[in-house]
Amino acid sequence: MADKPEIVIVGAGLAGICAAINLLKKGVRDFVILEKASGAGGTWRYNTYPGSACDVVSNMYSYSFAPKADWESTYAGQPEIQRYVEEVFDTYGLGRVTRFDTEVLSYTYDDATDRWQVQVAGGEVLTPRVVIAGIGALHNPNIPKFKGAETFAGEIVHSARWNPDLDLTGKRVAVVGVGSSAVQIVPAIAGQAAHVHVVQRTPQWVLPKPNRPFSRFERFLFRVLPVSQKVYRNVAYWSHELAIIAFMHPPLLKVFKAVSLRTLRKQIPDPELRAKLTPDYTIGCKRILLTSDYYPALMRDDVTLVDSGIAEFEVTGFRTENGEFHEADVVILATGFATDNRLAEERITGRGGLTIQEAWRDGMRAHLGTTIAGFPNFFLMMGPNSGGGSQSILFVIEAQAHYIAQCVRMMRAAGARSLEIRADVEREFNKRIHAKLARSVWNSGGCDSWFLDRSGQNRQAWPGSSVSYWRLTRQPSKEWFELRGRSLEAAR
Ligand code: NAP
Repeated sequence: MADKPEIVIVGAGLAGICAAINLLKKGVRDFVILEKASGAGGTWRYNTYPGSACDVVSNMYSYSFAPKADWESTYAGQPEIQRYVEEVFDTYGLGRVTRFDTEVLSYTYDDATDRWQVQVAGGEVLTPRVVIAGIGALHNPNIPKFKGAETFAGEIVHSARWNPDLDLTGKRVAVVGVGSSAVQIVPAIAGQAAHVHVVQRTPQWVLPKPNRPFSRFERFLFRVLPVSQKVYRNVAYWSHELAIIAFMHPPLLKVFKAVSLRTLRKQIPDPELRAKLTPDYTIGCKRILLTSDYYPALMRDDVTLVDSGIAEFEVTGFRTENGEFHEADVVILATGFATDNRLAEERITGRGGLTIQEAWRDGMRAHLGTTIAGFPNFFLMMGPNSGGGSQSILFVIEAQAHYIAQCVRMMRAAGARSLEIRADVEREFNKRIHAKLARSVWNSGGCDSWFLDRSGQNRQAWPGSSVSYWRLTRQPSKEWFELRGRSLEAAR
């Protein structure tokens, strides 16, 4: 492990691991990975709630350079994905360059040396030239401040900070929220809990999840004929890619709406319940939920949909805005993540003392979701507006890891001490993408979602095909950046 690493990668999740492997492949070895948890995995280490799984096809929710022939099913569950991440981590020997249980407290750019001062818990300060932050796009739980929550005698737990010792058997459980996490939790705990109340503020559009185990023959084929897995992956990739056309041209989403309404009609025979579950905004505006067992779970006698927000907590339960009171032993907050400014809690100070909070006071912005004006030699993974609206995030991560490694090479080849995206390039880029996003379903579909920030700007989605993102991230252009100073290393 480098004593004085030139590059610090923060996070040993899918993004940080990919960044590290890309550097290794390009012959760059003077880096270290800092990870606050005790092991690799990132989001898949944290999201261990009951039923946790991925709604992206398993063959696509894996690195292109590390295919896994023996996925158990078409959509993988959390334990299998976590094992996959650990396997890749071990295969590339990343344990040798990773410091676990090492939390970064602050990042401060030193204008005099063009290096970052990365302070970790315990007082140590590392001084790399480059920081790559793979700290997760959906990492900080959104925990609403419910009136009276502190008086509640039961347990309140957020889906992304699951308590493995929590036994729901025979308990009265409330699940707050009906997003991607909730629709996985509800079917998983129905039947185990004495009763489940599902607290829905806004209904969401649902499409069936065609999950099934891979047959032994399919797995055999993937193993002995890797090209067959590539074909499978490509078919999945291009069908996801087609969906983006509809997201950017909302009238085309009528096809999705018809399938969703048909699913609802088939799975929810009760017209009253069906009415409560029917959204009044365009499908795709909120991330479409892929599930085949959520609606059937709602039809159970021991599961009740509560069609109202929470007004307040009391000692034995909670009252909803429609005045009903529900007793509960456990409340699961499936209320999503803080996404408005996902670096709001980070202490990142760039050139000239500019903090990330100041830089992003009007909203998150970056260039290609990776570089931020005012923050030289700082690379963000899965940054603003790089998220795939319909594509596997692994595709975005791989494109960014490649791009960042190219930027580092460019900087080193130029003998520069710092590389910073030009403010005008960043501004023009953001103007262009926000103009495009204005007509997307996320912006115009008539809903509120985590894609939009408080001002209504879409700070998450990439407004186009993932191919267009891939093309732009192939080779950074020197014109985009300020390259400053000759580095001491280059001068030697
Ligand atoms: P989410 O989609 O943001 O859903 C949050 C839910 O909580 C919504 O139903 C929201 O209601 C509700 N809520 C928030 N604050 C509330 C409050 N104060 N009172 C009552 N209800 C409240 O969160 P998520 O389900 O955790 O998913 C977030 C993202 O994580 C997903 O979109 C996806 O990108 C990712 N994810 C992916 C997978 C996967 O399978 N790949 C699985 C889980 C999560 P409103 O709609 O009314 O705001």
